[in-house]
This record gives sequence, structure tokens and C-alpha cells, in this order.
Amino acid sequence: MQEDNYRHKGMRQNLVQVLKDKGISDVNVLDAIGAVPRHVFLESSFVEFAYQDRPFPIGSGQTISQPFTVAMQSQLLSVSKGMKVLEIGTGSGYQACVLAQMGAKVFTIERQRNLYNKTKPLLDELSYHIKTFLGDGFKGLPTFSPFDRVIITAAAPEIPQSLVDQLKTDGIMIIPLNDEADAMKQRMLRLTKRPDGTLQREEFGECKFVPMLRSVGND
Ligand code: SAH
Repeated sequence: MQEDNYRHKGMRQNLVQVLKDKGISDVNVLDAIGAVPRHVFLESSFVEFAYQDRPFPIGSGQTISQPFTVAMQSQLLSVSKGMKVLEIGTGSGYQACVLAQMGAKVFTIERQRNLYNKTKPLLDELSYHIKTFLGDGFKGLPTFSPFDRVIITAAAPEIPQSLVDQLKTDGIMIIPLNDEADAMKQRMLRLTKRPDGTLQREEFGECKFVPMLRSVGND
């Protein structure tokens, strides 16, 4: 793994300031972004890009989310220590580490075999005790349910009912849901599960994610 030196730590503090200026106010989120070494999720030659507020390609046609998006989704998720969180779309593993740094018990699913094979060893090496799974996020992880929180980090065509079923009452799901009018865009939704199983729905603007695809594969 790449080292994490004072230069990296300095760049991270600058990124934290950028996120504060853009409106991220949850101190736990800002502290986690300040602690997790984002550069280890990129090839070493791209270290200059690691602490800019931009998404970046990570191979296999996928991207590591923009730090602002990670911060916003984490803030909307309202995570506190000890909560069980299910993430759909492990990708680079960065979002999972931010949540683990915040004290969540993270379960994360990736459908792309190449990415899973690359990210799992890195997450194991980072010692956050994140549980990584190769599988179809539409199905969730019934064996490990219920979850306090569910975070989807790919563009969902619909609200997956199996994930709603695996959410606790009063649990929160953050989901970038495809816009019916424009398939290239999504709306960031926060869904809160009521005792009768229905969902309270709040919208937090437009966003752009890679598509959530069905079944395990390498495409
Ligand atoms: N959270 C990631 C960014 C994810 S990009 C990070 O922090 O880097 C979206 C990821 O979702 C991609 O890796 C993609 O392969 C994955 N994905 C798409 N559909 C999926 C599904 N049905 N189940 C699990 N993962 C899926």
C-alpha cells in the first residue's frame, strides 16, 4: 500500500475546507474525510488528483465518487457509531472506508468481479473490518439484515423492494434514483421507513452516477 505522509495529510485538510465551503457541516463526516487516505484508492501516479474535489476513473469503466458526493451521501445517511450500514457499489472502497471511519459496521456489495478482486484486499489491508461481498446489490444481504442504513452509490432504475425489506423501521436509505424524463440524470433521495413499511421521501437535487446493473459480471 502507498504511504500516507504529511503532504497527503495537508492536502486532505485542504479538501476538508473545500467541502465545508460547499456546505458540508456534519463534523463526523468532515473528520472522516480528513482521516481516510483517498490517494491509496488511486494508482500512485495520480496522487495529485486524489485530493481534488473530482470523481476519477478507477478502471473497469467505473469511477471513485467525487469527495463532495461521498460527503453529501454520508451526511444524509446520519450515521452514528455502531450502526449497521449496507452499501451497494463498493467500487474503489473509499465510501465504505469513510463510513467505517465514522464508526459504522459496513457491509458492501460489488457486482463487478475485477473490481471486487482489486478492492477486497485493499480494504482488508486498511483494517477497517469492512465486510465485502461479490454479488447483486438489488438482492442485498438478507442473511445480515436488518440494516440501520442503506446507501446506494450507483444510479438506480427503481427503489429495490428487497433493500426496503432489509431496512429497519425508522431506517434511512440514500438512493440516486433515475429521473423518469432523462435517463442520464438522477435525483438524490432520502427514504425513511415508517412502522407500516411505507417510505417517507425527501429530495436533495440532481446527481450523476454510473448505472446500477443487474447480476454479477465483468461488463
Ligand atoms: N462507492 C464507490 C463508487 C461507486 S461507482 C466508491 O466509493 O468508489 C458504482 C459501483 O457500483 C461500481 O463499482 C459498479 O460496478 C457498482 N454496481 C453497479 N450495479 C451494482 C449492483 N447491482 N450491485 C452491486 N454493485 C453494483
